Amino acid sequence: MNLAQLLWRQARVAGDRIAIFEGTQPWATHAQWARRSAGLAQRLQAAGLQPGDRVLLFMRNHPRYLEVLWAAWWAGLVVVPVNAKLHPAEVEWIIDNAQARWAFVTVDIAPHPLTGLERQVDVESPEADELFTALPGLSNHEPWPCRPDDIAWLFYTSGTTGRPKGVMLTHRNLMTMGLTYFVDVDPVSSSDAIVYAAPMSHGCGLYAIPHLMAGARHVVPASGGVDPAELFALGQTLGPLSTFAAPTIVKRLVDHAEAQGFSPDDCATAFKTVVYGGAPMYLEDIRRALRVMGPRFVQIYGQGETPMVGTALSRAHLMDESHPRHLQRLASVGVTQTPVEIRVANERGEALPAGEIGEVLVRGDTVMAGYWRNPDATAQALRDGWLWTGDVGCLDDDGFLTLKDRSKDLLISGGSNIYPREVEEVLLTAAGVSEVAVVGAPDPEWGEVVVAFVVAKASAALSAVDLDAHCLERIARFKRPKRYVFVTELPKNHYGKVLKTELRARLKGEAA
Ligand code: AMP
Repeated sequence: MNLAQLLWRQARVAGDRIAIFEGTQPWATHAQWARRSAGLAQRLQAAGLQPGDRVLLFMRNHPRYLEVLWAAWWAGLVVVPVNAKLHPAEVEWIIDNAQARWAFVTVDIAPHPLTGLERQVDVESPEADELFTALPGLSNHEPWPCRPDDIAWLFYTSGTTGRPKGVMLTHRNLMTMGLTYFVDVDPVSSSDAIVYAAPMSHGCGLYAIPHLMAGARHVVPASGGVDPAELFALGQTLGPLSTFAAPTIVKRLVDHAEAQGFSPDDCATAFKTVVYGGAPMYLEDIRRALRVMGPRFVQIYGQGETPMVGTALSRAHLMDESHPRHLQRLASVGVTQTPVEIRVANERGEALPAGEIGEVLVRGDTVMAGYWRNPDATAQALRDGWLWTGDVGCLDDDGFLTLKDRSKDLLISGGSNIYPREVEEVLLTAAGVSEVAVVGAPDPEWGEVVVAFVVAKASAALSAVDLDAHCLERIARFKRPKRYVFVTELPKNHYGKVLKTELRARLKGEAA
């Protein structure tokens, strides 16, 4: 079982169909993609790379991202897709930890040579054109016969609590993730297209797998990133697109649609499905997104350690307004996806009854093989076959999971647990609030006090007094922020997650 088989198969059954676009320009048919990837695979092998060796990608989104991924798998190699926003020193740490031999880069992301590599290839150079030259045919060039448990994708966690860890994802993990998309997220046909606006080093890039399984088209925006006007225009030209987006990207799409006066029908011509996840989607934000863009959305909850697969909130559930618990469901992350089990557990790993809050555990074929050369961290995360996600949540009687927070984001003030997400949801319903992040600040009397960082909507005047009154009407007094910090933006990582560690560090610094 090798993920490269997926491309080999499409090259035979749909070889002449355009598979990859750069903007609206055709880049490769399935056959060209397969022959280029097989060609690169052959040259990597000729250079001495052995099955299981690591090849790193440090690039902006680019059509050659797909060609490198499948070339590496074709040769039985392991890909290490790196967040394009990392500092070179962080990337060099990963190169060393993964013992990566080659790296494929774009010069905008990696203008200088990285240390620790045998070879660094700029995918836009003449050298690359040679390496990516298509083989004349594929007979006698079958993909390397990987075993299901061979590693395909070594994904480094963001490392907000210490050094990043390499999550080992196998061909079986990713094959299962791909098939699950059709059951729990969205059916895909060969006339569909996925657009890579969010980073391909993360979930968005992984969704290449189900789209290749279905023989659909792959569109890399010419800008290589998120430009809502470009994405709407691409969708209108190439047919409605599907994509994966963090909630912040969804927000930008919705802002654009609203500013342009697009109706939900206009949005339907540009987007088939927007899968969102990776960070909390607040109730107010998803209600507005549905109002503006219509039934375009599906939510997933997963993590690098069980990629894209944990729970899903389907289009049908998102649109089922007549359901008595519709709003609770919108604020949830949906129900368990097909190939896994989910348990909300106490510290001993025992299942808690519906309604009780505990840590979310996941078990099934998408769960990682472990952390790369890190048995201690692996033993901590994988216990008795269950992945301990570090997320805290509760299940309802119908099996919908509502996340409270990461266990490390939980705040304890005067002995009471406070879930920042709950306070954030309330503040987002106040007029004039665009974004908010709630964290704890050290406090000699209370242990921690609640602090809200607030971004106002354009031209809105916000005051701490008004926001406090808003909270007083809606949540227990002890959960109210003791302090408001008005900011123009929140610090976020490349994947759109708010960096609460930075906000906490800022408060700690002020206290010191
Ligand atoms: P990563 O491993 O970078 O994909 O981050 C995974 C983490 O993002 C999870 O453990 C959750 O804390 C968070 N996350 C993922 N999906 C969702 C979601 N749909 N809603 C809220 N948080 C999410």
